Amino acid sequence: MADDLPSRPVLDLARALIGCRSLTPDDAGCCALIGARLSRIGFQLEWMNCEGVTNLWATYRSEDRGNDVAHPLLILAGHTDVVPPGPRERWASDPFQPEIRDGVLYGRGAADMKSGLAAMVCAAERLLASTPIRGTLAFLITSDEEGIAQYGTKHVAQVLRERGIVPDYAIVGEASSHQTLGDRIVVGRRGSLGCNLRVLGKQGHVAYPLKADNPIHRLTPALAELVATQWDSGNAQFPPTSFQVSNIHAGTGANNVIPGEAELVFNFRYCTESTAEGLKARVHEVLDRHGLKYEASWWHSGEPFLTLNGALIAAAEAAIREVVGSDTNEPRAENSPGNSAVHSPGHWLENFPEHFTGGGTSDARFIAPLGAEVVEIGPINDSIHKIDEHVRIDDLERLSLIYEGVLRRLLTPLQH
Ligand SMILES: [Zn+2]
Repeated sequence: MADDLPSRPVLDLARALIGCRSLTPDDAGCCALIGARLSRIGFQLEWMNCEGVTNLWATYRSEDRGNDVAHPLLILAGHTDVVPPGPRERWASDPFQPEIRDGVLYGRGAADMKSGLAAMVCAAERLLASTPIRGTLAFLITSDEEGIAQYGTKHVAQVLRERGIVPDYAIVGEASSHQTLGDRIVVGRRGSLGCNLRVLGKQGHVAYPLKADNPIHRLTPALAELVATQWDSGNAQFPPTSFQVSNIHAGTGANNVIPGEAELVFNFRYCTESTAEGLKARVHEVLDRHGLKYEASWWHSGEPFLTLNGALIAAAEAAIREVVGSDTNEPRAENSPGNSAVHSPGHWLENFPEHFTGGGTSDARFIAPLGAEVVEIGPINDSIHKIDEHVRIDDLERLSLIYEGVLRRLLTPLQH
């Protein structure tokens, strides 16, 4: 890079992180890189590695209080692991060798979420170099978010719970933006509940149905009822709970055999109007009423969470408006509910950023139950998990300024 170009510390760190081949759950040196940067500016590092997963808990305290954590406690959270890149030949450049083309940085993890991590680290560096803080600033970084997510943030959250540590705020650096940086923040996520259902029958000859018990025939009316059920109506923050079948299988392959079993895999994405236990009970009621013999194996991968307006969201909105509000171009808002009536320049800021609760799960589901207000703020998410994943270089330093703006508002004695 030529000397006259402005220094771009977020870009440099994002490139270094993308260069680490950190396929879940392999951290591949990312946390060591981040940890070295944080310890240089006064963070205490604690490694909470578990079952091959790298977990870094790093804290910067405004005063030494032994093992006590000073409040407010604000956590910057994220993951270093990435999903597999897919076929190398379909990428325009090596997914683990960051490449810049036309002002865009390409590489696996560019958006999900190594840019977010780099922006957070640089935000902490700038903040602590310029001002004293009150309370505690912490990083919670794991290498197990894209996988089974059992030994990552979930594990660290459990340790924090055992220590009686209650965070006040958490920012997860997942790619939350929709069309322009900061146009959308995630303030909640639906819960996820799944089930492997085995319906038990009795195998036999199709010509002698009375000597067999067809599990497909038993399952289908019950399944039709489950598919047609309205589980709840959603609420102002969430769409209604959805039930989806992902796998269905039965049959021996022969056309003259009634199978002995049928298997069904289904998943609920549920909102705060329903509970996992309530949904399970309702499913069992349907199955029992239809007289099925079955084995149900449930998995619950996350409670829904919702952060309503509080200090964190206020700080996030103010920081985002401060950074992107000076843009000459008004963000396009045609897909944003609530923004359709906004026409005059300047007024768009009132409904900006959009509060979003859709999409899949994230590690916020493990942090929110500790008692924290949680938001997800990160780069544009349209390329995550895809071939040629990317992030706009201009967005990197601005994302870091947004994080810094939130930290200043919540952690510096002279709040804005
Ligand atoms: Zn992610």
